[in-house]
Amino acid sequence: MVKLVVQVKLLPTPEQAAALEGTLHAVNTAADLVSAVAFAQRCFRNYDLREHTYAWIKAECGLAAQAAQHVIKKVADAYRTFHANLRAGNVGAPGTKRRTRAESRPITFRPDAAQPYDDRCLSWLMQARTVSIWTTRGRLKNVAFTGSPEQLKTLNACRKGESDLVHRDGGWYLYATCEISDVPVTEPDGFLGVDLGIANIAATGDGTRYSGKGLNAVRHRNRELRRRLQAKQTKSARRLLKKRRRKEARFAADTNHTIAKQIVTEAERTGRGIALEDLQGIRDRVRLRKPQRVTLHSWSFHQLGAFIGYKARRAGVAVIYVDPAYTSRQCSACGHTGRANRPDQETFLCTSCGFAEHADVNAARNIAARGVAGWAVSHAA
Ligand SMILES: [Zn+2]
Repeated sequence: MVKLVVQVKLLPTPEQAAALEGTLHAVNTAADLVSAVAFAQRCFRNYDLREHTYAWIKAECGLAAQAAQHVIKKVADAYRTFHANLRAGNVGAPGTKRRTRAESRPITFRPDAAQPYDDRCLSWLMQARTVSIWTTRGRLKNVAFTGSPEQLKTLNACRKGESDLVHRDGGWYLYATCEISDVPVTEPDGFLGVDLGIANIAATGDGTRYSGKGLNAVRHRNRELRRRLQAKQTKSARRLLKKRRRKEARFAADTNHTIAKQIVTEAERTGRGIALEDLQGIRDRVRLRKPQRVTLHSWSFHQLGAFIGYKARRAGVAVIYVDPAYTSRQCSACGHTGRANRPDQETFLCTSCGFAEHADVNAARNIAARGVAGWAVSHAA
């Protein structure tokens, strides 16, 4: 079973948008009230919290029964995450100013923070391409939505469970959970090796390279902007930075989706599996580079790896993760390994057999070969 989230854009009329906005404000006001009770009474579990708050927030904030329960669960979930972060030391060591401050007050929610909806407060009319959704002004019917043909197909066939109502950059969205049952894995006839990198986001053993130029240009521009705005420290500068960061993350995700789709389609078309570097290995390799690159790129590697993984599972394409050690220094033709084989970032030139290839493509071929060997070992009868 693969779980994934399909995002569709809502196209509300101005009146519908006002009702949605009023609803998010009401549920998040309620969440703040519940959070204050949780904090004051040191009562953080969903079940206990419901006993203390359910009846009166329903009345106080004009919430439907389901909405009130979702608000309480949202608060309980937020405290669980917060306490896990405390334990993991992500909020600073005990006694530090930052941690003391974080611990000294209840969690608060933005007025337009996302709100989960289940099937009782949100129904989907796929044919009409509208939803009917609970709001504090009553049930809104005929709220139009739009999405790509692929998104709509997935939504129609596999939507299950909750959807989040999200207000972002002036637009309205539903993030719907879909559950896709596993497709049986086809026995691979060879492997397509994939090397992940920075100059090239990905390169395959077939010689296809996916340039990181566009993405790196955006990152560079944002880094420059960050440098200028950070000096200002104003509220509007912070808001602009946050907006840019989100936009950059969305752009990276779109790019990763496109690349993952092309790679999986190519493997499927040729009956091969996909060989990827082991993610732990990617983390280690990136860690060796400049520190700022780690924060900029490591999550992006993981995202691309994860996208390829789930798209492959959906298509029944085998995926194998291999040890990435020396894939960039080893000759994919004769196996000779040496630092001198890699005279510069782009070039692979074997000092033993003279084989020449783009460095990333050579690495991808080594990954493919390790995939074949690894599959044979793990699938030996
Ligand atoms: Zn060689």
